[in-house]
Amino acid sequence: MQSFDYIVIGGGSGGIASANRAALHGAKVLLIEGRYLGGTCVNVGCVPKKVMWQGSELFHQMMTETKAYGFDVTSQDFDFSTFVANRDNYIQRLRQLYQQGLDQNGVQVVFGLARLKNQQEVVVNGESYIGKHILLATGGAPVIPEIPGAEYGLTSNDFFDMRELPKKVAIIGSGYVAVELAGVLSHFQVETHLIYRHDHVLRSFDRETVSHLEELYRKEGLHLHPYQEVQSVKKQSQGYQLNLSDGSFLQVDLFIWAVGRKPMTDSLGLETTGVRVNEQGYIQVDEYQNTKVAGIYALGDLTCQPHLTPVAIKEGRQLSERLFNHQVDAKADLTYVPTVVFSHPPLGTVGLSEEEARQKYPDELITVYTSQFNPMRYALLSHKLPAFFKLVCVGKKEQVIGLHGVGEGMDELLQGFAVAMGLGATKADFDRTIAIHPTAAEEFVTMT
Ligand code: FAD
Ligand code: NDP
Repeated sequence: MQSFDYIVIGGGSGGIASANRAALHGAKVLLIEGRYLGGTCVNVGCVPKKVMWQGSELFHQMMTETKAYGFDVTSQDFDFSTFVANRDNYIQRLRQLYQQGLDQNGVQVVFGLARLKNQQEVVVNGESYIGKHILLATGGAPVIPEIPGAEYGLTSNDFFDMRELPKKVAIIGSGYVAVELAGVLSHFQVETHLIYRHDHVLRSFDRETVSHLEELYRKEGLHLHPYQEVQSVKKQSQGYQLNLSDGSFLQVDLFIWAVGRKPMTDSLGLETTGVRVNEQGYIQVDEYQNTKVAGIYALGDLTCQPHLTPVAIKEGRQLSERLFNHQVDAKADLTYVPTVVFSHPPLGTVGLSEEEARQKYPDELITVYTSQFNPMRYALLSHKLPAFFKLVCVGKKEQVIGLHGVGEGMDELLQGFAVAMGLGATKADFDRTIAIHPTAAEEFVTMT
């Protein structure tokens, strides 16, 4: 039986990052991956999603914006299947790069579904391996609700297998995936219906910022259906009939479930180890990624931390710094986690929403600044999508504790502001900074 310093189960964002960092510090590392290297992010998440986002942006610009700039490039023969094939080739290359990186660092890789036999032994493909330290990094998978006909729906995984565009689609859910896929399809000129059960989408985000995005989605022709649930689905000779909670029906070519994800713990054999999970099945860890069992750790989408690739990567690398490079206090600092929903236009956020800030501090300590403006992208167009930016500050010094926005460029400009907020920047620090003109970002340093 082979022994390793470190066995990593799951070759996604967090697992690969942790395995490589451990090997760089001299550990003997085994990485076990059940399907393909890169995990959710590379294969059915961030990467294909961003390519789809770019593609649909380009399509939308060509169809609606280029004319005003004097171009006549309106295309009627967009080949979606070529676009998808090029995207998949790119992903294939990324997988190879991951494999090369692991090889170069001396990480041994085994493909197969791993199962814990006890606190130190992992079984894969009938072989047992002993690990001094074991990392669980098996991520999550989309859930499908239990209603009649639910099985006819696609998940985000299936979305990336689509080889042709539907004419009319419904997306059910209100989180990142629902909002992003709805934006992509709508920008490809698919009639898109977004069905969600409460008043707003993205309910954990800043309310005012989300309302602005909803307004823009409506303006762009996306059909929003708040306070609606799909109660059952009927297959028809062509497409599906969705029966909604208000008694109405919606006929679509296809529909996509985007109602959240569940942690991939089912086949891990956790019961043999004493590793604890919470009510939703997420593995309980402390801030150092320790589970309740010495020598077994977990990270990323398997745990309750924000389910974002950079979070999983940071947790994985910091864990390896702690275990294999004597950095006894290394852990991921999740105080300010910037995040972007790749809607059209993107919505970015870091820190507290106004609602969260008002819950945490007395009202008199909170100051809010907002700005609404038309980005220059629309200068020559009659159709404009105004951007909305917002700062939430606390105390006499007006420390910026929340920064939110929806608009052109929000995805790229957020990172630097997250650095400033991590350093405790105040509104006065923002105001002191010379603006870059003409950009969207300058709005954040010129708000009054
Ligand atoms: P994963 O990346 O999911 O990796 C887990 C790996 O474990 C998988 O490869 C799986 O095959 C493997 N595995 C599972 N069980 C076993 C087993 N028993 N044995 C061996 N291997 C196993 N995040 C962002 O930051 N930005 C984005 O733009 C973004 N877009 C997203 C878009 C979509 C559609 C989705 C679904 C997610 C997106 N995310 C995004 C979230 C991001 O993908 C995840 O947070 C991230 O991939 C989590 O990394 P992980 O290492 O925890 O798990
Ligand atoms: P989320 O957890 O973000 O959102 C799913 C939402 O669907 C829930 O919050 C809930 O909202 C709603 N919902 C749940 N059950 C039902 C139901 N039965 N019927 C109708 N609606 C339901 O899940 P996602 O799958 O969108 O994304 C998973 C995670 O992946 C995200 O949280 C994010 O961390 C990550 N991700 C990140 C991206 C990025 O960084 N750009 C992109 C995509 C994913 P409500 O209670 O309001 O109804």
